[in-house]
Amino acid sequence: MSRLLLLALLALLAAMPARAQFNLNRLLDSAKNLGKATGEIGEKEEIEIGRDLAARLLGAAPLAANEAMQRYVNNVGRWLASQTERADLPWQFGVLEAPQLNAFATPGGNVFITRGLLERMRSEAELAGVLAHEIAHVLKKHHLKAIQKGAQMELAGTAISTLARQDRNTPQREKLLAAGSELYSRGLDKSDELEADRLGVVIAARGGYDAYGLPSVLQTLQAMNPEDSGVALMFKTHPAPGERLGALEKMQPTLDAYAAQPQLAERFAATARQQR
Ligand SMILES: [Zn+2]
Repeated sequence: MSRLLLLALLALLAAMPARAQFNLNRLLDSAKNLGKATGEIGEKEEIEIGRDLAARLLGAAPLAANEAMQRYVNNVGRWLASQTERADLPWQFGVLEAPQLNAFATPGGNVFITRGLLERMRSEAELAGVLAHEIAHVLKKHHLKAIQKGAQMELAGTAISTLARQDRNTPQREKLLAAGSELYSRGLDKSDELEADRLGVVIAARGGYDAYGLPSVLQTLQAMNPEDSGVALMFKTHPAPGERLGALEKMQPTLDAYAAQPQLAERFAATARQQR
């Protein structure tokens, strides 16, 4: 496996410069031009940006070569997504061949989980909890909005929706994608992560799973050493597991109401963890 490539990606992400500083004039310009930017990115553009970003991220860590595992994760993910208000997005779920523990989504419905994280899980309910968290990011357009915000600063208010429609490989489009890639090394706002946790729990419960799947994964993460290189990127881009669990405590009545739903530990073991 391209462990070297993955390490190269992680090194690259770590080495990326903090967003360039801008002078006040440029900031004011950009604020002025925000009005000109048509704002909302259409669904077609959202899907295109997300595909380009997914292709970039996939270039560094390929999909795991286990068809049964990919099909299984894709089925669980699509089942969950099919019951959301954005069921008609072209949802794709994949397992990345990477030993690190991580999961992420790109706009438009591309969701990835690493084999490292999958191997730490004990049930389909846990898998569903993590996929539902990522689905929530897509539903709420967390990445899209953050990319738009970042790129608007960079491009001094050029209409991002126009850029998104431009031919590939233009310098502006490249900037938009660069802003997007950078986001995956920096992470979303904490409020977005906590919202994805709350919504993720609901989506998993709606899908018929024990609602404690996601909290259970967070407990696994909490028990790990934050210095462990396998969780470094995940810990850098997400609030600490303890804080996320604390925030979910407010949802305990909801969690308890759906705690009796199946965990499907055997089905998970039979499918996801085979051919390790
Ligand atoms: Zn997240």
